[in-house]
Amino acid sequence: MSLMDALKRWFGGQGTAPPTRHQPTTPQQQRHSRPADPAPTATSAATTQGTTTMNPTIHPAVDNGVRAGSDSFPGGTLHCHCASDRVEVAVKAQSAHNHVCGCTKCWKPDGATFSMVAVVPRDSLSVTAHEEKLDVVDPSAAIQRHACRGCGVHMYGRIENTGHPFHGLDFIHTELSDDSGWSAPEFAAFVSSIIESGTNPGDMDAVRSRLKELGLPPYDCLSPPLMDAIATHIAKAKGVL
Ligand SMILES: [Zn+2]
Ligand SMILES: [Zn+2]
Repeated sequence: MSLMDALKRWFGGQGTAPPTRHQPTTPQQQRHSRPADPAPTATSAATTQGTTTMNPTIHPAVDNGVRAGSDSFPGGTLHCHCASDRVEVAVKAQSAHNHVCGCTKCWKPDGATFSMVAVVPRDSLSVTAHEEKLDVVDPSAAIQRHACRGCGVHMYGRIENTGHPFHGLDFIHTELSDDSGWSAPEFAAFVSSIIESGTNPGDMDAVRSRLKELGLPPYDCLSPPLMDAIATHIAKAKGVL
């Protein structure tokens, strides 16, 4: 398996859905990506910053600046968004590789352009209340995202395939916790993918500039250390390393 195949298989959420490019364009997408503009870059937000005071929104947890995490943070509790009978997940570890993600699979709060997602060791995470409300969003996906049936929030993502480069790590959204000290987001992943969710391609320069300004280097896959980790895993599996 090549690195590109691995990305598709393990991070593309490959399931039964047809490739995005074959799906009919929805009216909403047409509105956001109207191709009629003869000079898209000349009128995009990126080049009209002098007259535009609005920054592109990324995610509520970073739009006013990234808050540093705490080195001594021992973990905390996550809750879903239900008004009562909230699903509760306890994590007895600090998060790692926290980042904002532009992919279409990660859960994001209403109105956010990116999700915010981190990993924790699988054995540090347990569901401590209302586990009966959790369903796996897409059982065919490599990352099994356990979502609350009541509010739709993804409480954690788990990898059951022991051949997956990130097996042993669960994905969590630290914003679901009232505890402060979780590791801060460090980069932005799958940035191009926000176009799939309706961002105008002409706004991408402004989005990437804003991410850099926030100290979140934008990448169109994962960060170089994570991409290197995946490639190393594949090379070892092939016997190259
Ligand atoms: Zn809920
Ligand atoms: Zn994602």
